[in-house]
Amino acid sequence: MIVSRTKAELRAALATLPGTKALVMTMGALHEGHLALVAEARRRAEHVIVSIYVNPLQFGPNEDFAAYPRDLAADLALLGDVDLVFAPTDEEMYPREPLVRIDPGPVATVLEGATRPGHFAGVLQVVAKVLIAVGPDYAMFGQKDAQQLALISTMVADLDIPVEIVPVPIVRDADGVARSSRNAYLSPEEREHARALSQALRAGASLVERRVRPGVETTGTDGFNSLRSTHESVLTAARAVLDSAPGVRLDYLVLVDPTTFTELAPGATRGLLAVAAWVGTTRLIDNTIVEF
Ligand code: AMP
Repeated sequence: MIVSRTKAELRAALATLPGTKALVMTMGALHEGHLALVAEARRRAEHVIVSIYVNPLQFGPNEDFAAYPRDLAADLALLGDVDLVFAPTDEEMYPREPLVRIDPGPVATVLEGATRPGHFAGVLQVVAKVLIAVGPDYAMFGQKDAQQLALISTMVADLDIPVEIVPVPIVRDADGVARSSRNAYLSPEEREHARALSQALRAGASLVERRVRPGVETTGTDGFNSLRSTHESVLTAARAVLDSAPGVRLDYLVLVDPTTFTELAPGATRGLLAVAAWVGTTRLIDNTIVEF
């Protein structure tokens, strides 16, 4: 495994890897979720490149940039035999405050973007820079960060960046909690409380599975009204779980269009059920696609 700390080292290392390349971008504190991206990268390409960089631009002033877990040696040990790791310093990534910024557009103003102003502009700035530096054929991103994944796909399309964005499903612990570097902040009690997020999503989604199964419950004659009421039922079922959950402070629970992240049209047959909540001082997110 080659570890490059500068763009010049990265360029030299890339020159030794002539085949197809798949990139996994991370902020380190690696876990099974990241490793699923690495495994998918291995399936896609001859060479796997992992970037590890805690990007200051995507953290708000009151967020956890300073506290974010950093342990490069542990990350490298977990990664095993990837070809190349790009782990730059802040000075290398941002020798000065960037003057030209990426405008992520309307999708970045809602949900995560509403709670975390400037977050997605910071994400897209670093993703564009690393995509340009590495020039991969494929770049893997987790469905865990659904809004981020959508924005990156749009950026790549709108700026004609020659890379295929590959979505990877959410990896969960046995109790349903989505793997996240921020789970490390949770006390044992908070870790219990955190289960409410995925339980709420399951409660909402399983209601639809029951409804659509033929012969179990009818969806009525008016398809639109019926779907709309089903949308509401899904949200109600999910909200009930969160309302009765101890130690969880809800930021948002929504059923939205998976592309625009705005309100689901009444007749929509596919939605993203997404939740963000604080458990103690830790903000967690989770989501699931619901097919109606
Ligand atoms: P992060 O290090 O949190 O910035 O995440 C790096 C990449 O890993 C992003 O594309 C995330 O969406 C993805 N990722 C993080 N956690 C998970 C998970 N539990 N399942 C799938 N992908 C994940």
